[in-house]
Amino acid sequence: MARARDPIADLRRIAFLLERANEATYRVRAFRSAAKALAGMPAAELTERVGNGTLTELAGVGDVTARCVAESLAGEEPVYLRRLVATEGSDLDAEATALRAALRGDCHTHSDWSDGGSPIEEMALAAVELGHEYLVLTDHSPRLTVARGLTAERLRRQLDHVAQVNAALPEGFRILTGIEVDILADGSLDQDDDLLARLDVVVGSVHSGLKDERSKMTRRMLKAVANPHLDILGHVTGRMVSSRPAGVTGPGDRGHRARTRAESDFDADAVFAACAEHDTAVEINSRPERQDPPKRLIRRALEAGCRFAINTDAHAPGQLDWQRFGCERAALCGVPADRVINTWSAEQLVAWTHTRT
Ligand SMILES: [Zn+2]
Ligand SMILES: [Zn+2]
Repeated sequence: MARARDPIADLRRIAFLLERANEATYRVRAFRSAAKALAGMPAAELTERVGNGTLTELAGVGDVTARCVAESLAGEEPVYLRRLVATEGSDLDAEATALRAALRGDCHTHSDWSDGGSPIEEMALAAVELGHEYLVLTDHSPRLTVARGLTAERLRRQLDHVAQVNAALPEGFRILTGIEVDILADGSLDQDDDLLARLDVVVGSVHSGLKDERSKMTRRMLKAVANPHLDILGHVTGRMVSSRPAGVTGPGDRGHRARTRAESDFDADAVFAACAEHDTAVEINSRPERQDPPKRLIRRALEAGCRFAINTDAHAPGQLDWQRFGCERAALCGVPADRVINTWSAEQLVAWTHTRT
């Protein structure tokens, strides 16, 4: 008889691949819930339940997930997993592939402390599996209440929690602390200065008043970019280029609602010149529905001499592999690896952000 596989690992792998393929959340959740439900079960009980068909009596385990477990225990790669692997495709060209290979971490990710769908530990493990050396955790700031933005108090608790999680993670990998801080209407940042100074990486994004008139939006962005705490300007134009059918939303699905949104209007040349002057990196946001900034603006930021960060803005573990979409667009625009801050090691990255305070 074939040697049993690890059914929990197979279920988690399926969830990861479904997420990466941008499938509906409820399908992903079915596999994650089953993995969770079975994680602590003794091997003997698992085998017995597969044998007598009582696995599906457990909350969180359905017919499809039970079949995967049975196949794993029999030493076969589950059919569901095999099909996913067979149909996943990377059609990146050589330059995008090289850029992706040069990335050593991700500077914009969310956990279930704000509007992400998974715990910090789960995000970190997925990043380890992807071969990252670090993951910057950037949950939202207080004013973004719809996304459960963290108050100063909760952010302080998160910093303690991250220190604990880091102690248990494999050597050579660490979670860097961070925030996706709202750029407020007057261009100031939505968190206490002492906290912003303490964090490893600060991403700042506009989430409100996206239709403000050009001069107002430009002023707002210029002020934020000049703030020494700001390291990366997030999803620069705020546009939404695609949408998903309604009915697949849930926690962690912000940005997945059925909607598109025009770019906000601002003087891009002035903003990129300021980014170059203050050495603030421009984010290339990899989310399929954002693709922000558009390619014509990536080219202008490159000409202006800006640095870039190719980030996923992942709200779930499988989305951490979306960096390849950002790499594809960056490569098309001719962005070289030495202008991308997440090709640096964690030490180099933190040294850079700390000189900026
Ligand atoms: Zn954002
Ligand atoms: Zn974000």
